[in-house]
Amino acid sequence: MRYFVLLLAAISSLTAADRPPNIVLIFTDDQGYEDLGCFGSPLIKTPNLDRMAAEGRKFTSFYSANSVCSPSRAALLTGCYPTRVSVPGVLFPRHDTGLNPDEVTIADLLKAQGYATACIGKWHIGHKPSLLPTAQGFDQYFGIPYSNDMTIDPEATLSDGIVFRAGMSKARIASLKKHPKNWVPLMRNEEVVEFPADQTTLTKRYTEEAMAFIKENKAKPFFLYLPQTMPHIPLFASKDFLGKSARGLYGDTIEEIDWSVGQVLRSLKEHGADENTLVIFTSDNGPWKLDRGRGGSAYPLRGYKFSTYEGGMRVPCVMRWPGKIPAGTATDTLAASIDLLPTFAKLAGATVPNDRVIDGRDIWPIMSGAPDAKPSHEHYYFYKGQRLVAVRHGDWKLRQQGRRGTAKYSLELYHLGEDIGETTNVADKHPKIVEQLLKQMHTFDKQLKDQARPAGKHKEG
Ligand code: MG
Repeated sequence: MRYFVLLLAAISSLTAADRPPNIVLIFTDDQGYEDLGCFGSPLIKTPNLDRMAAEGRKFTSFYSANSVCSPSRAALLTGCYPTRVSVPGVLFPRHDTGLNPDEVTIADLLKAQGYATACIGKWHIGHKPSLLPTAQGFDQYFGIPYSNDMTIDPEATLSDGIVFRAGMSKARIASLKKHPKNWVPLMRNEEVVEFPADQTTLTKRYTEEAMAFIKENKAKPFFLYLPQTMPHIPLFASKDFLGKSARGLYGDTIEEIDWSVGQVLRSLKEHGADENTLVIFTSDNGPWKLDRGRGGSAYPLRGYKFSTYEGGMRVPCVMRWPGKIPAGTATDTLAASIDLLPTFAKLAGATVPNDRVIDGRDIWPIMSGAPDAKPSHEHYYFYKGQRLVAVRHGDWKLRQQGRRGTAKYSLELYHLGEDIGETTNVADKHPKIVEQLLKQMHTFDKQLKDQARPAGKHKEG
């Protein structure tokens, strides 16, 4: 009996030690580099995210893989440059393409390790049934299928219990020649459950859904992907946050997202998951260039969404995992959203797919504060659509302005260490560096395009 008890104790301690961490990945939409208290926002208040940074680690050279939504998301979930997986640009409701289900997403990988997986929020890498989250490794999905300024696909599957708003009906959806912009469907799994979605309560409802998922799945490892709809325009905040921030409606939406982060962290604690959960907060790309009431700020970076200047792709990032990620620290070492898949694979004891090229690298050394941690990429590439526009190598960044072979074509070289705002082009002073980096770009781009994999196309059935 005694041996049996000892054996049981040994097994249970093994189980606790071997249980891989839960992962919560919060991904905002078009939030600027500066738009968090802990990243320097002078007016937006984010006490929960600031606390998360105080208990975790801030990444100040963290890059998304593109300056617009769909490619950034395809890259995040596959660990590959978006051009490699053939999602180079924004998808619209008229498209029947998206991320290929043959790609291995973070959710596929973790699900195979026994994780419960949920996508709660904006998807935007294929809205047809065979391309939705439930076809890409997620057990469940609740959210909008693409950006909140888009319309409904008249072929979308409507749930029997669908809630129609603003005078909508099944017949009207089918008969309308042109659907109003900003009227998006809200979906559960493969069906539309509300149309048009009440966007004022989206952040709140995503949060409730996330908390329910944590509660239901606390007994096993879980992966919660929480891509917020805000602050993509049109902006909406619930009545509790509307008009409350000192930074206009944009600030209201960020402060509501901050509240949401606080609720998720509270929920992890309440269900005993706090110590064994890695929480990551970041944005998909830079802010819209709009007036300050509606747009974000990428200060001190140059450029906005749609741009390959830093402001388009360097994003705020905070990571927290008590006892594993050093609290109250920051790193300026280069890391990128494409690095999350290989890093999660390592933490979950999974193997990174070896039958295809994965661009991301394991960044656990950077996350855990290893003193010898190197940038995850010796060369990090900035694509716009199919075009490779820029590369960062150490502190150097080479950028091609205009199209090659045209009169407007020129090369820009910046030293980000001394000139984070990309204000002074020093290409003329460093012709050798320009030449080397340009050559490197051509070589990489050719390799990537020779090995690019096909996009997904919806299949009925
Ligand atoms: Mg976006």
